[in-house]
Amino acid sequence: MIIVMQARATEADVEYVSRRIEELGLTPHVSRGTERILIGVIGDERLVNRDQLTLLPHVEEVIPILKPYKLASREFQPADSIVSVAGVPIGGNEVVVIAGPCSVEDEEQIVTAAIAVKAAGARLLRGGAYKPRTSPYVFQGLGEEGLKLLARAREKTGLGIVTEVMESSEVDVVAEYADLLQVGARNMQNTKLLRSLSKIDKPVLLKRGPAATLNEFLMSAEYLLSGGNHRVILCERGIRTFVEYTRNTLDLNVVPAVKQLSHLPIIVDPSHGTGRHDLVVPMSRAAIAAGADGLLVEVHPAPEKALSDGEQSLKPAAFADLMREVRCIAPAVGRSVASPAATASGRESARTV
Ligand code: PEP
Ligand code: MN
Repeated sequence: MIIVMQARATEADVEYVSRRIEELGLTPHVSRGTERILIGVIGDERLVNRDQLTLLPHVEEVIPILKPYKLASREFQPADSIVSVAGVPIGGNEVVVIAGPCSVEDEEQIVTAAIAVKAAGARLLRGGAYKPRTSPYVFQGLGEEGLKLLARAREKTGLGIVTEVMESSEVDVVAEYADLLQVGARNMQNTKLLRSLSKIDKPVLLKRGPAATLNEFLMSAEYLLSGGNHRVILCERGIRTFVEYTRNTLDLNVVPAVKQLSHLPIIVDPSHGTGRHDLVVPMSRAAIAAGADGLLVEVHPAPEKALSDGEQSLKPAAFADLMREVRCIAPAVGRSVASPAATASGRESARTV
């Protein structure tokens, strides 16, 4: 970082700030301009609480040079990370579509959904067993029973399963069944949950918080990476909005922005991003065109009977139409889409974790 001293700072002030920098384990480098004295700080500035320097006498400004995240950054790892989920590579050349109902409701519902999404070309099955609902009076998910039903659907279709974990005490049970553990938007900054997930040997799908900045999003990923779990996939699912016609505003800007700043894969959830089934297909097209590594789409065999998020769920036939479009759009932006029977493949220059 660079410390800009106020115009009236004396040599004694510069000396004082320099000594403080040394006490913090860093090295000061003073440059005297015609109007201002600047002190360059050499060392890992991420380890320093910036306020401890900002509040020193006659300091005008402290300008960070490094991003607050390190392991998540492209500077740290220039090659794309490819995260393998039940043998499906996410973050490579292939665009991967994950689909299934918002919640697991019963065996018939989840198995029917799994068969339908697989036939259309989905590579992984989604379904919530632990549900973070806004109202305490509505369906809260089947819990472990839901996980068992997901495992049943996996047995029948061979699709790996993606499901949410809401608290640290449930990480072990969810990890026993899931191939990819989802951190919901509401929990993006639940640092204890992130720490627990950083210790498991399963990949994590980290959804962006409803009002999280890109820095905050990547700092949450940093919790997972710094704790030792390098299998992290990001998911944009819409941010808090003032518009009244959608549930959230799907922030597709974040897709290319993440690609510049980070090596982590990023997928897009157009279901929560819009809250409307009629907008899911157009926003899916846009997400792939913007460079997303995949989609997370809610599909329900009978959305009118769904216990959660029916209004944003596609029927199986509409999902099959979407997959046909995905197979046209992905090649136009240099990406592939596996046919339902295809096996895993990877990009050579990338790092599979
Ligand atoms: C979900 O995927 O069903 C869900 C609850 O998503 P989010 O955390 O993005 O609201
Ligand atoms: Mn949902």
